Amino acid sequence: MRRLVISGGLVLTGPRWRPEPLDLLVVDGRIASVSAPGSFAEVDAERHDATGALVIPGLVNGHTHSHTRHARGANRDWTLETSLLHGPWLAAGLDGERGLELAELSATLTAVELLRSGCTGAFDLVAQAGLPDFERLSAVAGGYHGAGMRAVIAPMVADRSVHAAVPAIDGCCPPPPAGPSTDLVLAACRDWATYAPALPGISPALAPTIAAHCTPELITGLHALAREQGLRLHTHLAESLPQAASGEDRFGRSITAELGDLGVLDHHLTVAHAIWVDAADLALLAEAGAVAVTVPGSNLRLGSGVADTRAMLDAGIRLAVGTDGANSSDAYDQLDAARLAALLSRVGSRSPGGWLSVEETLSAATEGGAAACGWTETGRLAPDHAADLALLDLGSSAFRPANDVPNQLLTAARAADVTDVFVAGRRVIADRAAVRVDVAAAESRFSELVAELHERHAPARRRGADEAAASAAALAALRARPRGDARLLPATSPLADPTPGPTPGENRRPSP
Ligand SMILES: [Zn+2]
Repeated sequence: MRRLVISGGLVLTGPRWRPEPLDLLVVDGRIASVSAPGSFAEVDAERHDATGALVIPGLVNGHTHSHTRHARGANRDWTLETSLLHGPWLAAGLDGERGLELAELSATLTAVELLRSGCTGAFDLVAQAGLPDFERLSAVAGGYHGAGMRAVIAPMVADRSVHAAVPAIDGCCPPPPAGPSTDLVLAACRDWATYAPALPGISPALAPTIAAHCTPELITGLHALAREQGLRLHTHLAESLPQAASGEDRFGRSITAELGDLGVLDHHLTVAHAIWVDAADLALLAEAGAVAVTVPGSNLRLGSGVADTRAMLDAGIRLAVGTDGANSSDAYDQLDAARLAALLSRVGSRSPGGWLSVEETLSAATEGGAAACGWTETGRLAPDHAADLALLDLGSSAFRPANDVPNQLLTAARAADVTDVFVAGRRVIADRAAVRVDVAAAESRFSELVAELHERHAPARRRGADEAAASAAALAALRARPRGDARLLPATSPLADPTPGPTPGENRRPSP
């Protein structure tokens, strides 16, 4: 039996988020007791002195993509659709052993970045060119496990192209090569769902990427497989206006209603983004018990719009927070994602009572993310929960003066203030450094492999840019389509297009 006592810290246990001096007793990776300082002084245990630290439950990232780490900062002004047109090279790997090495390093380094932001678990949706490759998914699992992080890993699949899903693109670009058949995609997903490596803290899931990119057979087939194997299903939902509008044109109803008609809305479903949804959609998601992950950094970066997180909570939906991949939000920083979620809820005309509160945001970034991953015993510091926690330096300027520590955790703290991270009671970040990963060596090898990847896939990148240019006008028209559920500031607003004021000299009263 392995015992660990973490003592001397100021603790936010969740879900009340009130700072209290408390000590924690951890037994075999789980929290056995949370008690007043000194309670475990006589216990025979390893000890970690948390004096001067804020101790919080590990944050949980509800939606990310480690495979796009190679494309960090590679675009300045993509929308979601531009990103999807670049999908072939974003998802491409390298052949053979180097491909597996790249996939594992992407996951390892993503995990280290997330851990350093106080994040102890993530839901990773992994896209690959062609069929989901079992070995490559296993390499991703190995990357997270090697870094010491908890993760759910899903092959992100489709059997229709973005060209077919968004007719505005189809009319401007030549059709892409045919992808693998629905049956082959389902068979590859069945392999992953059934035989994914049994690593502690790592579990498989399934991800039909976007409803309109999947045939009904693929969506319902993946749902049936997920239910059979007890896995979560994860999809991007109404992320952009072109996606929502094209989906509605195709289905004759909202994308959410279509998923409901297909019978896949249930409490095992996680939906990401959920920006272009209305009250009826939110009611369907709430009734099903689905978890919604808001992804504010990506939504801002791609200009996708502002998700109405208050309406989600008011509808009774479980809310989580995610970072997305490095191609759309650049940093794997869950603390930053939580801060952006809180701040973005203030855009619009709601009064402060309608903004996400500190407590709601911290719960979404911890227990909400755990719910998105299907974990019931992570996300708070309480007996019988996993000992997943992060320590932040209370001596940092972010907490000085300490006026309101939980608020300052959200508004002022940064990943650099995270000093130590424990997953299942094991220290995986110590004094701001990864314990299990030689980060310098991993980054060096990753850079070598990425250089090869980018050279090999330069033609696909040029093709993506050409197709984005060819379809830009049609997509812009779709993006400007008037809708009731406005999630973007209209281009005709006074902010974007100020009414000209009087020119100098005009309207001037005559001098007395
Ligand atoms: Zn995503």
